[in-house]
Amino acid sequence: MPSLSSRVQRIKPSPTLSITQKAAALRQSGLDILSFSAGEPDFDTPPHIVAAAEEALRKGQTRYTATAGVPALRSAVAAESERIRGVPTKTEDVIITVGAKHALYLLFQVLLDPGDEVIIPAPYWVSYPDQVLLADGVPVIAPTFATQNFELSCQQLEKLITARTKALVINTPSNPTGSIYRRDSLAQLTRTAVEAGLTVICDEIYRELVYGGATHVSPLSLCPPDKRDHVFVVDGVSKTYAMTGWRIGWGIGHTDIIKAMTKIQGQDVSNPTSFAQMATLAALKGPREFLKEWQAEYTVRRDLMVERLSAIPGLSCLTPQGAFYVLADVTQILEKLGDQATDVTLSDKLLEEAHVAVVPGSAFGAPGTIRLSYATSRREIEMGVARMAEALGRMGQLRQK
Ligand code: PMP
Ligand code: GLU
Repeated sequence: MPSLSSRVQRIKPSPTLSITQKAAALRQSGLDILSFSAGEPDFDTPPHIVAAAEEALRKGQTRYTATAGVPALRSAVAAESERIRGVPTKTEDVIITVGAKHALYLLFQVLLDPGDEVIIPAPYWVSYPDQVLLADGVPVIAPTFATQNFELSCQQLEKLITARTKALVINTPSNPTGSIYRRDSLAQLTRTAVEAGLTVICDEIYRELVYGGATHVSPLSLCPPDKRDHVFVVDGVSKTYAMTGWRIGWGIGHTDIIKAMTKIQGQDVSNPTSFAQMATLAALKGPREFLKEWQAEYTVRRDLMVERLSAIPGLSCLTPQGAFYVLADVTQILEKLGDQATDVTLSDKLLEEAHVAVVPGSAFGAPGTIRLSYATSRREIEMGVARMAEALGRMGQLRQK
């Protein structure tokens, strides 16, 4: 066996994907598993989007496309961004990628030299630190707290900036907390970052999934106009249009960064799948009524999950404003369980004893918590949380004996 590179040994497998796959395998083996682990909508991709892919296939759009993506799709993304973020955007400022994940991957590859630092507020989405490590960079984790709406403050940011700091990652609405930056805090944070010469990487993959009157604002809209080249937006269709398997996302930023990312894309995947790009074009140009229905359904599920979880002794959670996750604090439960119980051992026990899959908060840099996705049916939420409550009650009683 040839030895593996130090680069690959530096990173770990994606915990969210691993747990989702473990839950699916257990279900396939015949166990009645309820999964709150998957970070993907349970809705089907709307029929008009599927029809556009079918039409593209029939029309023979089955060949390589331009490396940075089909020009019509790049233009549609630029036009949409200009409309929603209010900042002039050219087709050349957009690259279509194999999911938002690949846009982030390419971006870190083109921005970072060995030893360059990227500030990542925790709780964070699992892939940011490992993608930075893959690019020979150094993830610098900045803790944020529920009491401050999980926002990174300018003071915190200033203290963390060194001569090697290259970028700051902002994910709003956030996976895993579901929190959304308030406009003023985001404007100040963006200004502080760009004035210090950092690139603000804003992951806006959940921007359309906001509830109860909450609004999402992009750091790009809030950035001083002369510093806009320091903001890079990552977005895509996976979450909004229930298209996780289609693998289409994009990056929006300075033309030279886009060109550099395109150079790597041409050497690694050539281009995102041709007919998936045509389906994405239909998603951006097509009807949007279904989105309102989905938002309403997510709101009901969110409230149901928060209500049921909050009734479990020792567990507490905030009502998230966006995305489709609840990050529940289980520190009191862990204390009660003793025996060096952690969010990881608790999640294992919930899977073994309650047949409920959740993601341990440690995966997101938030030990003492667990993440539950409510992109699943109301019935599964009711049954799953009931099973958790019952299993936790049993574990607590055993401990007391
Ligand atoms: N960013 C965040 C915060 C996410 O939760 C996800 C989900 N996988 C992604 C990026 C990547 O999305 P995609 O499926 O488009 O690669
Ligand atoms: N982003 C989703 C999650 O956090 C999907 C899995 C992944 O890409 O990590 O669960």
